[in-house]
Order: sequence, then structure tokens, then C-alpha cells
Amino acid sequence: MKLILLGAPGAGKGTQAEILSRKLGIPTISTGNILRAAMKNGTPVGLKAKSYVEAGALVPDDVIIGIVEERLAEGDCANGYILDGMPRTIPQAEALEKAGIDIDCALSIEIADEVIVERMSGRRTCTNCGATYHVVSAPPKAEGKCDNCGAELSIRKDDAPETVKSRLEVYHKETEPLKAFYAERGKLKSVENQPTIEATTAEIEKALGI
Ligand code: AMP
Repeated sequence: MKLILLGAPGAGKGTQAEILSRKLGIPTISTGNILRAAMKNGTPVGLKAKSYVEAGALVPDDVIIGIVEERLAEGDCANGYILDGMPRTIPQAEALEKAGIDIDCALSIEIADEVIVERMSGRRTCTNCGATYHVVSAPPKAEGKCDNCGAELSIRKDDAPETVKSRLEVYHKETEPLKAFYAERGKLKSVENQPTIEATTAEIEKALGI
């Protein structure tokens, strides 16, 4: 299964991608996590991406396309993958097509902007492995520590309220048109965000027939 998760920042793509990845036994490719790791390690890609990510802007398409093409060529992607946070623009989606990548489904998680702003304030991210938590809806077992690897959890700089607002504007302008792009190709499925992670997972599984 080659799956794209669409949805506004904070819609729960990362959380649902982790759940689906475990269930389907295929990797999640999160461009956000790859960029954050590159920034932390000070690699050339990280240095290029930093100012965009911290401002809540999109990193240039050519950088993203390079990262993703390289990652998809790795062996663990042979049986499928979940793309979380990519494509985010029409040129990125066109680049996937040009690379001969025929996805099975683009699944959009629908959620109101007001819910997102509230939700992002409680989000915590592992500084080491990128796993995400929420202080209310998905707390870690030990406060401030990642369940997977024990590393410190932190608040992402780009989860600050004013940055969230610009990320939402970018989403509506640049990323939302991808729904029509994939609908035209008969690949779009949509689910409504639910009050709990489990309920949203159930909706996604129903939509995907898994
Ligand atoms: P995310 O973790 O998916 O919310 O991504 C965090 C930030 O990384 C975004 O706000 C962008 O600055 C950057 N980013 C991640 N994926 C992409 C992408 N596909 N295209 C452009 N920028 C991206």
C-alpha cells in the first residue's frame, strides 16, 4: 500500500501514520521528521531548511523532492509506505508522478482550524525519534519522556500560536488544492477528525477497508 496522508498541520497525520505503519508493517516517511533531524544534526539540508521551518513556511520543492526520492529508494519501502507531510504542493505531487510513483490512496483528515490551534498548544515531540504526544489526549507514560526511546520531549518551535496561524494559511493556499488533484485521479478519500485518536483510526481503517 502506498498511502499519502493529507490534512492541516495538527490534524493528527503523524499519530495516525505511526498507528497505520505498525498495523500494515510499512514505514512512514515524514518529511517534517526528516527535516527536524537534519536541522538537529546541522546537515546541509538542515541548514537550508531551518529558516523556513521555524517561520512556518514551506521548504522549497526541490529540497523536499530530493529527500523523498532518496528515501523511497531504500529497501524498506519496497512493499509500500505512508507519506506523512509530503506532497504539500502541486509541484511536489507532480514530481511523484514524474518519478513513476503510483500511489493507491490520498487520505485527507478533515478538521476545523479552531480545533487545531487549541490542539497544537498541548503537542510534545520527542527530540530523538520524532514520536508525538499530547499532554491531554495522548500523554507519555512518564512525564516529559518518550515512551519509545526515553529521550526528552519538547515543544516544537513552529507550534507557537502565531506560527500555527501562518502554517494554517499555507495549508489552505498550497496544500488543500491537492485534494482536487487526487480527487481528479480517483484517489482521494476523506475522513472527519474524531474526538479521540482511536475513533479517528477506526474511521481511517473503514475508509481504507483494512
Ligand atoms: P510537519 O512536521 O509535517 O508539520 O512539517 C514541519 C515543517 O517542515 C513544515 O511547516 C515545513 O516548514 C516543513 N515541511 C515538511 N514537509 C514539507 C513539504 N512536503 N514541503 C515543504 N515543507 C515541508
